[in-house]
Amino acid sequence: MSTPSLLILAGDGIGPEVMAEVKRVIGWYRDKRDMPFDVSEDLVGGCAYDAHGTPLHDDTMARAQEVDAVLLGAVGGPQYDDLDFSLKPERGLLRLRKEMDLFSNLRPAQCFDALADFSSLKRDVVAGLDIMIVRELTSGVYFGDPRGIHTEGNERVGINTQRYTESEIARVARSAFELARRRGNKVCSMEKANVMESGVLWRQVVTEVHQKDYQDVELSHMYADNGAMQLVRNPKQFDVIVTDNLFGDLLSDAAAMLTGSLGMLPSASLGLPMANGRPKALYEPVHGSAPDIAGQGKANPIACILSFAMALRYSFDAGTEADRLEQAVETVLADGARTADLLGPEGGTPISTSEMGDRILAALDASL
Ligand code: NAD
Repeated sequence: MSTPSLLILAGDGIGPEVMAEVKRVIGWYRDKRDMPFDVSEDLVGGCAYDAHGTPLHDDTMARAQEVDAVLLGAVGGPQYDDLDFSLKPERGLLRLRKEMDLFSNLRPAQCFDALADFSSLKRDVVAGLDIMIVRELTSGVYFGDPRGIHTEGNERVGINTQRYTESEIARVARSAFELARRRGNKVCSMEKANVMESGVLWRQVVTEVHQKDYQDVELSHMYADNGAMQLVRNPKQFDVIVTDNLFGDLLSDAAAMLTGSLGMLPSASLGLPMANGRPKALYEPVHGSAPDIAGQGKANPIACILSFAMALRYSFDAGTEADRLEQAVETVLADGARTADLLGPEGGTPISTSEMGDRILAALDASL
């Protein structure tokens, strides 16, 4: 099989700083595990606008369609705030998601034991938590027509439409079932079938997909409002949660915060399989470009490093190596290594972005 290809788009602000540590990790896998990647790099966001007058050059878009996976840092910054909407850094990211048709957004909520006290919930509710929210990303109420604000009589009316086709529901359901088979083998589907027809269809189609191809996976259904309550009451009851774009937006943010810091949260956005069987894929940390700390060596690189771990697992079929990398992160945190964002109220001395990278590489060495 040919060397897997990886396009790195480090972006703006702390993007290049955290990506520098990921590149060292990629180098480690090449040198120590005989896992070479064909890595290329390009621009996205504000830096692409500075160079080309557009947040994503057509050539970059074409390259993203060809590679096995895209790894993105972050985009944006205050110097781009006054640009026309179509030129803003975020448009580059949105174009990637749209043209690659990345309909399945994976947001893990994993609580490392060493950080369990960071959660606003009690330690025993979150310690050891490991759940995955699969959010439908390219349809639903954010995209449905009709939409807009118009006047009826003497008042304004705001309209958005929740719209899902069977095939849109089926493909994200499949993605959740496939994922569950690599994890705890349980899927909970969340909608509001009690009050929304789109929710009734969602439940029917998820059930049909399950009946047809995934009876080995345990499936349950829950109304999304109850799901929100259960996430806070007893999040460890879940393995994979699959839900629509709007509910997924809210539930994944709530679940993420069960685990503490923004600097720790990876994500993946997956599309349909390519000719080689790998899904179209973009991996990125949940956080933004953090202009308030950019250029100071303070950024936590873990979210971006864990995004690469997701790439190992979901694009490169290297689950054991993904486990190794996640375990290395767990080890350095247990040893007390903390970037500034991970210092609790008791304080302590923070380490820099590259020192965190050093520690993770040392833990990887120790794992051999
Ligand atoms: P942000 O995520 O960049 O930062 C929020 C806060 O968290 C800041 O105080 C920041 O210092 C801190 N933080 C974030 N990541 C961190 C890390 N890895 N290590 C340590 N601390 C970290 O969100 P924001 O401030 O709302 O947005 C800043 C810019 O990023 C804006 O231009 C916004 O549009 C953009 N943004 C981009 C993305 C993306 O690229 N996917 C996502 C969100 C925001």
